[in-house]
Amino acid sequence: MSATLILHAGKERSLLRRHPWVFETSVARVTGKARPGDTVIVADAQGQPLAKAAYSPHSKIRARVWSFDPHAPIDHAFFKRRIEQALARRAALPELAGQEGLRLVHAESDGLPGVIADRYGDTVVMQLTSAGAEKWRGALIEAFVKATGCARLFERSDSEVRALEGLEAVTGWRHGTPPAAPIVIEEHGVKMAVDIETGHKTGFYLDQRDNRRLLATLSKGKRVLNCFCYTGGFSLQALAGGASRVLSIDSSQPALDQALTNLALNPALDGSRAEWRCANVFEELRRLKAAGEVFDLVVLDPPKFAPSAAHAGAASRAYKDINLLGFKLLAPGGFLMTYSCSGGVTIELFQKIVAGAACDAGRTARIVKRLQGAADHPIDLAFPEGEYLKGLLIEVE
Ligand code: SAH
Repeated sequence: MSATLILHAGKERSLLRRHPWVFETSVARVTGKARPGDTVIVADAQGQPLAKAAYSPHSKIRARVWSFDPHAPIDHAFFKRRIEQALARRAALPELAGQEGLRLVHAESDGLPGVIADRYGDTVVMQLTSAGAEKWRGALIEAFVKATGCARLFERSDSEVRALEGLEAVTGWRHGTPPAAPIVIEEHGVKMAVDIETGHKTGFYLDQRDNRRLLATLSKGKRVLNCFCYTGGFSLQALAGGASRVLSIDSSQPALDQALTNLALNPALDGSRAEWRCANVFEELRRLKAAGEVFDLVVLDPPKFAPSAAHAGAASRAYKDINLLGFKLLAPGGFLMTYSCSGGVTIELFQKIVAGAACDAGRTARIVKRLQGAADHPIDLAFPEGEYLKGLLIEVE
């Protein structure tokens, strides 16, 4: 018999709109006994059952909904079905066909809160971030292996958000044997090695796939500045697109080493046009400005400055600073490609910050395209928090 979370009166509204989170402050009481990760019934103040959810007693997000059918069995078959549905959703999109690197499951947006899975060739990298997902590890591994037919599965459950759930970091091979050679995927004709064991996220920023291609289309004959370059995803696409010069900056030497390895994997690219600098972007942009450098394309893809709305103030100042400097470094007619992957910064706020930066830099500028994550990172309409990555392609006069 499942325990039941009884909500305060009125707190059922977000669930009725199919938002999958139940906050600590919404819960009036718990009837029955529930341990971390257990499946519980969520009921309104009158005791009317509304959903089945995973219990997270250590988190402010006290429960995450598995199903809005309070009678649905949450078992191995449930997870198998949700994973098959997520795969089918992607298979239905021709633009994703043949991608060697693909997000298979995007957590809440695929009806699986706390579950992320990316496929790199025949390796699945799975990341579990909630007590509920943790509880079903075995079922999830089995379902991913069966549904994908992949040779191996690596678990990369070392995201810091696990601490909020009272979970330790765990990583390791859960199926198959480690590959004999480094994992390499091809993205729009460029080979990229993916360090699934120690790289960021599951090893690669798959969400920027379409935007890297867009950069390639703009790069012919252009001087490109790629800030926060990580392993060179945008940089190599700029080279592939015919850039005359690509200066890439990151503060992580291991990431830059990997970028050089990636360049070597692509002998058709002219590496003599690429420069790599290990530096703090905030300082390096000032140095470039002082040195009188000018670029035709500036990419700003910083890390998450605001994980939640509480950090929006400090994050806004950081976004303003780099965007201001980015505008100042652009030649007339140049493009700024600027991103925020902060959940705590909305697109409206981000646009306001960038507008302020353009104004302070004394530049007239236009949005020519709004940018977002690739189609394998869908956004459930009931879960706007899923829209973490937002970008603007801006043309300056
Ligand atoms: N654009 C990349 C992903 C960027 S991730 C891609 O398409 O793959 C953000 C990167 O910013 C990380 O590699 C991190 O090392 C780097 N970083 C974080 N803070 C920095 C700073 N202050 N200066 C320079 N690089 C920074």
